[in-house]
This record gives sequence, C-alpha cells and structure tokens, in this order.
Amino acid sequence: MAEFLELEAQDGVRMAWNVVPGTKQEAGNCVVPVSAIYTPIKPFPNMPLLPYAPLRCRNCRSVLNPFSIVDFAAKIWICPFCFQRNHFPPHYASISDENLPAELFPQYTTIEYQSPGEGSSLPPVFMFVLDTSIIEEEMTFLKSALSQAIGLLPENSLVGLITFGTLVHVHELGFGTMPKTYVFKGSKDVSKDQLLEQMSFFLNKPRPATGVIAGARDGLSSESISRFLLPASECEFALNSVLEELSKDPWPVPVEQRATRCTSTALSIAASLLGACVPGSGARIMAFIGGPSTEGPGAIVSKNLSEPIRSHKDLDKDSAPHYHKAVKFYEALAKQLVHQGHVLDLFACALDQVGVAELKVAVERTGGLVVLAESFGHSVFKDSLKHVFQSGDKDLGLSSNGIFEINCSKDIKVQGILGPCASLEKKGPLCSDTIVGQGSTSAWKMCGLDQSTSLCLIFEIVKKDIPDATVQSTGNQFYFQFLTYYQHSSGEMRLRVTTLSRRWVAGPGSVQDLIPGFDQEAAAVVMARLVSFKMEIEAEFDPIRWLDKALIHICSRFGDYQKESPSSFSLSPRFSIFPQFIFHLRRSQFVQVFNNSPDETAYFRMILNRENVTNSVVMIQPSLISYSFQSAPEPALLDVASIAADKILLLDSYFTIVIFHGSTIAQWRKAGYHNQPEHQAFAQLLQAPRDDADAIIKERFPVPRLVICDQHGSQARFLLAKLNPSATYNSDSHSGGDIIFTDDVSFEVFLDHLQRLAVQ
Ligand SMILES: [Zn+2]
Repeated sequence: MAEFLELEAQDGVRMAWNVVPGTKQEAGNCVVPVSAIYTPIKPFPNMPLLPYAPLRCRNCRSVLNPFSIVDFAAKIWICPFCFQRNHFPPHYASISDENLPAELFPQYTTIEYQSPGEGSSLPPVFMFVLDTSIIEEEMTFLKSALSQAIGLLPENSLVGLITFGTLVHVHELGFGTMPKTYVFKGSKDVSKDQLLEQMSFFLNKPRPATGVIAGARDGLSSESISRFLLPASECEFALNSVLEELSKDPWPVPVEQRATRCTSTALSIAASLLGACVPGSGARIMAFIGGPSTEGPGAIVSKNLSEPIRSHKDLDKDSAPHYHKAVKFYEALAKQLVHQGHVLDLFACALDQVGVAELKVAVERTGGLVVLAESFGHSVFKDSLKHVFQSGDKDLGLSSNGIFEINCSKDIKVQGILGPCASLEKKGPLCSDTIVGQGSTSAWKMCGLDQSTSLCLIFEIVKKDIPDATVQSTGNQFYFQFLTYYQHSSGEMRLRVTTLSRRWVAGPGSVQDLIPGFDQEAAAVVMARLVSFKMEIEAEFDPIRWLDKALIHICSRFGDYQKESPSSFSLSPRFSIFPQFIFHLRRSQFVQVFNNSPDETAYFRMILNRENVTNSVVMIQPSLISYSFQSAPEPALLDVASIAADKILLLDSYFTIVIFHGSTIAQWRKAGYHNQPEHQAFAQLLQAPRDDADAIIKERFPVPRLVICDQHGSQARFLLAKLNPSATYNSDSHSGGDIIFTDDVSFEVFLDHLQRLAVQ
C-alpha cells in the first residue's frame, strides 16, 4: 500500500495494476481493467517549473522524459514510445551524464513547463445565474451568500448577472446609476444571433458575418462587452444594489401549480452571452437553482403539481416524459460550452429535485463544480460557496482551458476516460474500438479543472500471444505519458507532463508477478466508476450480478485454495480487503440508487467521478472512529457490533458526517454532566469527535453535511445504513448494542458465498 501512495505523491497517479498483464487474454482474465486514476494538476511543492518549451519526439510528439535513452556523445535521444532517434537542438549542446536537464532527472517523472510570453492576461470571468422563483426566505439567504462571495472575488475578475423565473433578465451592470435589464421569454430558447440582435450589440457598427463562433469575439467592441461583464472591483456596488433590489419572481403561482422556472433558457442565454463576449477565455457560469425547472426545453416536470417529479422507477420504466428532451438540450449546451471553453457550476439548493440528473452532462463535460443542499441557508451551500472563492492553503486552485492528451506504448490502447472532461475527437492508432466514457480520442478538453480533479483512464492491452523468448526477458516495460495544458490560476499557460513506466508480465507464472502490483483501493474506485457508468448507459444492466461475477472471478484467479475446499481459501494481503470494498460498493449510494432521488444519485456520481482514490474509498466504504473513556480514539469496524452505549462513533461517509452518541452517553449529555466541573473528562469526550468532524469539514469540497444523533433516535439511520448488518432482527447474536432491520446479507455471509463460488 505504502509504495502506491509514494507513487501517487510523485506523479498524482494510482493504477489498479502496477505490474501490467501483458497480453489481451491475460488482461481479460484480470477482470479489473488496466486503468489509472490521475490527478492532472495535483500540487507538488518540489516539482520543477521549467521556463522553456518542451522537447518533443519528431515522430510521435511525446515529450522528452527520464525514460528516454540518451546518447550523450552523439547528442541523440531515443523516444521510449516509438523508438524514434531524435537529435538534441543546439541549446542542449552542453548536456552530459553529469549535466542533465531537469526533464531527464530520474525523479522528475512529473514536471511542468511554462513557456515565456505565452501567458494570457485574460481575467477570470464569473457569470452568476440566479433563480428567483423561490420563497422570500430563500431569496434572503441566497442574496446574503452571494454578496459575501462577491466580496471575495479576485479584483481583476469580470462579473455578469442573469436572473430568471418566469422570464430571463440579463442585467446591464455597466450602466452606473441607471440599472437596465434585457428581458427574454422563458418558454423559448434564444439563439445566439437573436440574443446579440436583441441586446443591440451592433447598434453603432455593421453586423459582422454570421457563422463566426469562437475566437473572433464576433467583432464585439470592448465597450459592448463591458456593459455586461465588469471588473469585480468596479461593479461591487452596482452588483450589490441590483441584488438588494432583487425580489422573488413577481408572477403569481396558482394553487396546485409549481412556480414557472425557465432554468434552461437562462443557462442558454448565459452561455451565448459568454460565447459572444469572451470565447476561449476561462469563464464560469455559476447557476444557483432553487427548484425544479418547469418551463423551456430543459423542463423536468410540468407546472401541474399533480404530476410528480421523475423517480428512479420512472427512469427505469422509461416513463419520465420530459427526461430525454431535457438531457438532449443539456447535451447541446455542454457541446456549446466545451466549444467556447466555458464551465457550468451548479449550486442546487431545494427540498425538491431541481434537475441535477438532467444537468449532469453539462456540468461534467465542462468540469464544473456541483453542490447539492436543501436550502440556500444550509451550511453545505454557504460554506461550500465560500470555499470556492477562498484563497490560501484551502484554495481549490480553480484552473481553466485545459487540454489533456496521452501517449502510450504501442501495445496499449485507450478505451476512454470516466471523469469531468469532453472528447476532442482526436482519433488515431491509440484509440480502442471499445469505448468507455469519453472515448475514441487521445485528447480531451477540460474547460474547468482544479487541484483535486481526477480522471479515470481505462486502457486496453492489444498484444496477442508472446513468443517464449520474450517471456523470459526482464526488461518488459510499458510507458504512458499524460500531457495537461492548462491556464494556471495565475493566468499563465502551463504544460504538466507525467511519464510512467510499468513492467508487464505474461505467460505461465505471471499470476504470482501480478499480485504485488495490485492496488486494491484504486481497483475498487475504478470498479465504482465503471459500475456507475454502466448503470447509466446500459439498459437492463444488473450491477450486483456484474460486481459479484467480477469478484468471484478475481478471487478464483488470485486466491490460494484447494479446489472444492472453501475452508482452504485465502487471499494475499494485496487482495484481502478487495472483497470488503465490493461488499460495501454493492450497498453504496452508487449502486442502491432506489434509496435516493435521481438528482442525488447524479450528484454522488459526479463527485465520485472527480475525486482521487483516497476520497473515493471513503465514499464506498465510510470510515468509523470510536471514542470512549477506556482508550484513545480508535478506528472501529464498520459493523453494527461497534455500537455501544458508552461510546461515541464518528462516521465519515464523505457526503455526510455522523456523530453518534451511545445511549448512556446521550443520557449523560441530556442530564448536562458535561457542564459540571467534576465531569470535565466527559466534556472532553463529547468535544473530541466534534473537533475531528470540524477538521474534515474544513478540508472538504463540497462541504459535507453534519448529523449529530443519539442511539435509537430517528437520525441514527444515517449511521445504521452504512454498517455491516452482522446482527439483524433475523439473526441470533445480539451481542452488540444494536441490531439492524434489514434483509441484506452480512459481510460474513457474503464472504462465505464468495469462498464457496471461488474454489469451484
Ligand atoms: Zn516518439
């Protein structure tokens, strides 16, 4: 485990197989695909930043790296990807094995280039899109959160404002004391040309030829642009006074009807306005949505309250009348935003669903942030929004305009990426015919990315059989190179290059060679992203069956056992927790979707699809810490048997943090013992999990929800749902402090079945 973490600390990458199954057949037998979870701009304090352009192979364009073979005398380097011999240019004339450029240092497998003069001074752009079809109380919360956020915006950033409800209002902020808005009907999508026309962008000048989309700024003058996008330093007053005046949508809502809310039209107008004003520069649409969209092409439900909002059951039966139309609309919006290089961030705050499931495609393809909370007054929203604009060591490191490219050894192809990015449709010999996620390309757009954005790359090994002679050889290496161009939060353009080398094995005995290279945490996370993806795109897909089959196959291939003897079964430590991960994954929110709304499921999956391995593991198998008088805080089994009357438990399931007081602790607390000077130790015991929870909350984005509850209380379900039901109402052993009312199998039963099936 430790060595995988070390590799991650050097390159930001975790691979399921660090010794790679070397042939197509071998890889197929390994079930978990050859794959990598890569965090392209993970911060590394000691990573060199080179002030010159990278040297590239003249054949395959890969970048010079520590795995290149260098002939110092002849001043030649051999590319490890295509074996091309490349001459060093004259300014490398002084290199020798004692005078290496940084990119050849063996420890600098990850390095960054910053080309002088290539920096762009374009300021970051924030287009706020506000839902006003919300109750007054929510309006007050939203306004207060926003005016705080506006105070935190970088001074040079440009800011715009659109509000919507029944109609869409585009606010002209650059109008000084005379605030002015342009109003659009919410029911009809507005094309970019119509938008430009209506907003009289071309009042004083000839209209440029149509059809120009990105790049040429559509011939807009900077005065035109500055009517709608103003530097934060100049518009704080104007923006705050517009916010102050802003009231909820004035149109009456009849009883038995939902409010009119034209979310999709507002977002489409925001996208077109940014497309006209700042194409190609790092801009974010920040959408604040407080209820279901009921009007326009992206409506998720009708206004009639008697029609319920779609559930997982409806989606399953294909009986959600608005779903496909809305998704199609947001796919088109995603395409437009990716083309423009812009990001959609979604802050969805309502008790009801708002349409996160439909919006997911636009948020995910553009690398947007997503926060789901029940109210604009909830700390999950307020603190998350603050976190976005926070600077200092908790800075998210928001970056933009990313392009991600890869190179691999010729026996490897790429099936695709599961994660926040969009295919740039750069086809080539590297692309596999099997497509997973964003595939059929070797380059991807990442409109928005930050320090924690993590992509999951799925590879395919295409090498067929291997002649016996090569099997014996020890020098079998596969190479991977990941290239990330992006606009650093400082504004300058950077290129991050990570080059990896992994040994491959094939033939008899290779199973024993593969075992030490198996990273079971990374493998569990890859399986979680894969199963979520398959559930979304494959009709009739049975996730439990798929996971069980995969696990049985892995155990029978890599386990130690005598045939037909379940009791002889054992797994190497490298595989030993994997069954437990799969057990919890089967019970997780990613697979058991019927316990949640489609919006919640979409939210959980979007976060899973962008987080690193460590965080994703917490989502799959929450961590549990136990606090008691008897010992220091210690990790506890994620099992109902960990509950005890005189203990406090702290559960971290990533999205929710639960502090659970055993019944005795709860009684003492209710009696106020912690306030009595002679019970200081009890006060400390109560406080310790609070402090630990606070520390987690401060680090995490989006901010998790905190639940504080007591044994036998109604909120205790947040803990019980995550525990292994080793004691249920239909088992005999009630030794723990609690039982769980469930028909789910316990881990012991699960493991029992697994061992029986694996040894067959
Ligand atoms: Zn090459």
